Amino acid sequence: KATSILLIGMAGSGKSTFAGALSRSATTSEAVASKSKSKDEETQTYMVNLDPAVLKTGYEPNVDIRDTVDYKRVMEEYNLGPNGGILTSLNLFTTKYDQVLSILERRAQEVEYIVHDTPGQIEIFTWSASGSIITSALASSMPTCVAYVIDTPRTTAPATFMSNMLYACSIMYKTRLPFILVFNKTDVQPSAFATEWMSDFEAFQAALNEGNATEPSSVATNRPGSGRRRTGEDAGYINSLMNSMALVLDEFYSNLRTVSVSSVTGEGLPNFFKAVDEARAEYLADYRPELERLA
Ligand code: GDP
Repeated sequence: KATSILLIGMAGSGKSTFAGALSRSATTSEAVASKSKSKDEETQTYMVNLDPAVLKTGYEPNVDIRDTVDYKRVMEEYNLGPNGGILTSLNLFTTKYDQVLSILERRAQEVEYIVHDTPGQIEIFTWSASGSIITSALASSMPTCVAYVIDTPRTTAPATFMSNMLYACSIMYKTRLPFILVFNKTDVQPSAFATEWMSDFEAFQAALNEGNATEPSSVATNRPGSGRRRTGEDAGYINSLMNSMALVLDEFYSNLRTVSVSSVTGEGLPNFFKAVDEARAEYLADYRPELERLA
């Protein structure tokens, strides 16, 4: 019955806050309310926290990696830094994920959504063996989709926007799961600029050519080993590279669902749940048959 949602996003994009908003909203949504106070109303959304280093989540986790592994002790015991500590904790947790999955499978009969909140450092989940194991185990057990959370106010520079989209694109092709782009924090910055860039290639190209393509946190200025200023030649090269990549992204956009939300005000959440229902239908139509074919 349940659909599971993997929340992925850059550190600070608002995953945990969004997860909190989901857990509150699904328990009060009309769909739930109409079931006239079912026996355990609070568990309509089942929350799984996979971030061993988080101090405080904005929701009450039903399954919490922190109950299984002590991130600080792992760091000390194995003499690791923060990222190594998180990765090792996730690896240790993954060795027991089969037990978690059997709990989730039982719960899936009762709840509507199962939300996985992933570690703050995005690559620890998306590019690790543990992340892949958890993702594929979950996706072979029940309808699953990825919700990629974007920090809208921090992605208004065309180059930042594009690197964020390329990252999302790589995750979609890696997991091959139904995908939802979530533009978060729209109370601070409306996402209209993003939807325009995604639907109108020429508008994006115009923004690129306006010369503000590479604002502070951009790809070009952060290039390893380059403390030097960009030359005109570099700028030409970067713009032409971005123009070509924008064409690739056009194809990616056509496979996507996009929603704009504010995790603080709760605006846009009903649309998110609608997108999840569509993603579930896509999973059942495309992903599941492919799994069965390969089995
Ligand atoms: P995570 O690292 O992706 O889990 O991000 P957090 O959930 O910790 O959020 C990072 C920061 O963004 C926090 O200060 C949040 O209060 C803030 N934040 C998250 N969502 C929103 C939102 O929708 N609107 C605003 N204004 N701030 C948000």
